Amino acid sequence: MSEPTSISTSISTSTYLDHGATTPLRPEVAQAMAEARAQPLGNPTGSHRPAQHARRLLEEARDEVAAQLGRDPGEIIFTSGGTESANLAVFGALGAAVRDGRPTGVMCSAVEHPAVRQSCLAAAQWPGVTCHELAVDETGSVDLDALAAGLLQAETALVAVMLANNETGVVQPLQRVVDTVRELALAARVFTDAVQATSFLDLAGTTAGADLVAVSAHKVGGPVGAGALAVRPPTDLVARQHGGGQERERRSGTQDVVGAVGLAVALRLAGAERSEAVRRVGGLRDRLAAGLAESVAGLHRTVPAGVEVLPGHLHLCLKGVEREELLLALSEQGVCASGGSSCASGALEASYVLAAMGVPEELARGAIRFTLGYDTTGADIERALAIVPGVVASLRHDP
Ligand code: PLP
Repeated sequence: MSEPTSISTSISTSTYLDHGATTPLRPEVAQAMAEARAQPLGNPTGSHRPAQHARRLLEEARDEVAAQLGRDPGEIIFTSGGTESANLAVFGALGAAVRDGRPTGVMCSAVEHPAVRQSCLAAAQWPGVTCHELAVDETGSVDLDALAAGLLQAETALVAVMLANNETGVVQPLQRVVDTVRELALAARVFTDAVQATSFLDLAGTTAGADLVAVSAHKVGGPVGAGALAVRPPTDLVARQHGGGQERERRSGTQDVVGAVGLAVALRLAGAERSEAVRRVGGLRDRLAAGLAESVAGLHRTVPAGVEVLPGHLHLCLKGVEREELLLALSEQGVCASGGSSCASGALEASYVLAAMGVPEELARGAIRFTLGYDTTGADIERALAIVPGVVASLRHDP
């Protein structure tokens, strides 16, 4: 794959370094979705030609998603995105445990995305369900000793550990989590939120041991509003959405065929380009990191060297800078980055991820996340390097 020559048509800005929030729709995906729409599409449950056509597209998309995730097609449930997949995994698996009178404890890492964390906390409001948060160390990696101790202390139905963190990009030792759970709590299921990692990690390999895996199309160059949850037997789910029994009774509602096509094509492209993307994007990220380290004083690289981080992620804490001011000032100059965590209103919240890693509040206030993706170019990085140091210097309260 050669370096892209133009940035995406869907987010028109000079230097878009916020792929972790959403990745521009890939032109090939837009094309495949337009082709899917070009013929009359019926409801995939129907009998006539347009319905048969929709069903064929849906099942082809399912086969592709399953292949990319290393799963059987029957394991794939199409959803409306990462949040729904996470809710279905947590409430579905715990609901089945409650129904069957099995242990009902849930453990989730302290750095899970709110889609997972809030689902676990809400499930803990159910009678008998308990939620235990798993600590991470200063690198952001889940504490395996705490996991083992927790599994020995409380009977657990579900362990939720993400594949890679959305703020820091830190890749979790998922296979070791799986091994620990299999050794100490045979009945417990492992759920991994692979939403951030999809562009850069081979999910078929890295998530092979997990019982439940969530993905979202818009983090990998697909459309917003499409995602999937993979559920490996014998894991049982109680449906969250009741109705016509689509998706093998696990998620009722007429499927979004075009969204499923978009998800499938986005995953296929990511799979085909992965090794080159890891090399190219990782190189650009390293160039950005090195350039900023040279030109910005008081810069703290949040994740220590040697820790595995997604190739597109660069998380920094800038001492003496308020991140909201920084992000707005950068945006004025055409550089789009993120503070790492924001609530629905878009306002920045204190990061519980950084707090869990023990990052001091004075540093966390100046947290900034640059996330690069398939359409990031060397010119984007040079532009960011030309702009960020001056903006930081102009905002610094405590030089
Ligand atoms: N999980 C992670 C790790 C994410 O980064 C996100 C989105 O930011 C989600 C889940 C939610 O995905 P969606 O936006 O598709 O609902």
